[in-house]
Amino acid sequence: MNNNMINITLPDNSVKQFSESVNAIDIAKSISEGLARNVLSATVNGEVWDANRPINTDSSIKLNTWNDREGKDTFWHTSAHLLASAISELFPNAKFGIGPEIENGFYYDIDFGDNQITPEDFPKIEEKMRELVKAETKIIRKDISKADAIKMFSDKGENYKVELINELEDGTITIYKSGKFTDLCRGPHLLDFSPIKALKILTLAGAYWRGDEKRKQLTRIYAITFPKKKELDEYLNFLEEAKKRDHRKLGKELELFMFSDKVGQGLPIWLPKGAMLRERLENFLKKVQKEYGYLQVITPHIGDVKLYKTSGHFQKYGADSFRTITTPNEGEEYFLKPMNCPHHAEIYKNKPHSYKDLPYRIAEFGTVYRYEQSGELHGLTRVRSFTQDDAHIFCTPEQLKEEFCKVIDIVLYIFKTLKFENFTAQISLRDPSNTEKYIGSDEIWEQAENAIIEASQERGLKTTTVIGEAAFYGPKLDFMVRDAIGRKWQLGTIQVDYNLPERFELEYTGQDNQKHRPIMIHRAPFGSMERFVAVLIEHTGGKFPLWLTPEQFIILPISEKYEIYSKKVLSLLANYDLRGTIDERNEKTGKKIRDAELAKIPFMLIVGENEEGKGTVSVRRHGEGDLGAMTIEDFAKMVDQEVEKELK
Ligand SMILES: [Zn+2]
Ligand SMILES: [Zn+2]
Repeated sequence: MNNNMINITLPDNSVKQFSESVNAIDIAKSISEGLARNVLSATVNGEVWDANRPINTDSSIKLNTWNDREGKDTFWHTSAHLLASAISELFPNAKFGIGPEIENGFYYDIDFGDNQITPEDFPKIEEKMRELVKAETKIIRKDISKADAIKMFSDKGENYKVELINELEDGTITIYKSGKFTDLCRGPHLLDFSPIKALKILTLAGAYWRGDEKRKQLTRIYAITFPKKKELDEYLNFLEEAKKRDHRKLGKELELFMFSDKVGQGLPIWLPKGAMLRERLENFLKKVQKEYGYLQVITPHIGDVKLYKTSGHFQKYGADSFRTITTPNEGEEYFLKPMNCPHHAEIYKNKPHSYKDLPYRIAEFGTVYRYEQSGELHGLTRVRSFTQDDAHIFCTPEQLKEEFCKVIDIVLYIFKTLKFENFTAQISLRDPSNTEKYIGSDEIWEQAENAIIEASQERGLKTTTVIGEAAFYGPKLDFMVRDAIGRKWQLGTIQVDYNLPERFELEYTGQDNQKHRPIMIHRAPFGSMERFVAVLIEHTGGKFPLWLTPEQFIILPISEKYEIYSKKVLSLLANYDLRGTIDERNEKTGKKIRDAELAKIPFMLIVGENEEGKGTVSVRRHGEGDLGAMTIEDFAKMVDQEVEKELK
């Protein structure tokens, strides 16, 4: 073999030989010119590199295009440089923080000093960005020493960059230059801006430097770019649709929940319709859990500091979380509950256990409190108080797999009933090359990991496996759903835990008459009621399934003459256990129908002389229109059948 040749292994395990100093573009060209045009970056031995960076040793490489996550990341990260380059030309005094790519697009945190910018500046910035793209501005990578980097950025007054460089280890630092703008950056980037064919600045937000409330608030500019104009148009349409479904907007319109600054930031208040919806969700899950042998418990909202010291939560949440609550008694300190698990561990300890009474499954809709920075709060998805649909299963190692299967069955039933048809599960395992990081014996880890893998296979889950993502205390399985407009949400977790049983010294007597530690499984299929309802609102656009919706019907009398008959219909339907109201306003029927459509009420029951005479209602279905006249009984039967079908 020629010594000057290097071997490049491609993802399909085929090996190609090149002379030294080959780069990703050359490799792509050896496959096809088309591919070479589309390569955005390359993953070289697990690290993402610029497509023109020389590869000098035998390597395994993956070429990244727009269709790969890594390709998008490179594209969007480079676009952040484009945004910063444009801004540095338009606002010479701007100082730059950080500019990472995100799930959709990218942002840059910038200190504009006294020149605050507004959305009115967007077109001008976009225009400048387009100019730089047209000029095919190159992005040039350069290695410099730490001392030189500090000098360079200090001279430019880039104090945020200087702070970041100071924290880097000594040695060479990479900087990237594009036009007049130079950024501290590890890369990788596109070779120039020309692939960026469509761009849009989206929004402004405030962001504390390094997420620290005590530091200066910078302006965060969110933007997105695409290789094709069509893709930008599609994305903007998607944003419009997402806006319509925003749970904060719909939650208000449908009168489900509210927030009050006086009550406190990030503390959701459930209004009557929302509370009823939540209660139905809870009852639905309680019923399923009962069938699966769970026992319902209730624990207080606070706990003694000693409890959380035993569990380790004090160490984890203590410093950044809420402060302790003290009482007039000397030395008494309480904490708002950040997790239900420690309370449940104490419930387990309340009586001795034998292998015969395991698994022991206890469930609670337990409200927990965690501090979140006010800038991080977001509707029902980032809150300071939320209720988990929590449960803990205490079992023997041999029971793990079966318990996992059962929890998966509950999750699948929930997804099916609530029409989350598109979901995947992620299995998080430990890093086998670093086992001392984890607690519990090798044997027990192997058993638990196999239990999760086998249970997922048996239940036919579409899974991805991530090595090294397990918590130090055990492997886990997370469910991700895609909503109706394709967004990904994490819902539902099943987590194995060896740590808490150890810390709380939980025991059971085995068949051998010896004491053993049980394994604890934490699981929450909804995650939290708040987050789940938020996702459900955005998934359904507020058109909830019939069994769940706050109002199944609304009676629309065509004039006040039919008020008495309306009330009679309402009480008859209440006897059938259906939920609804009467629109008693003195409005035209057309207006009442429009409002009921807006409120997304599934059935409108119109009553007038004809209906009163025959003892019927004229039924209109939301989004569908007229279903004709029906007797009260027939209408109730129709709703009943539909609900039954939904819950099957
Ligand atoms: Zn960069
Ligand atoms: Zn737990």
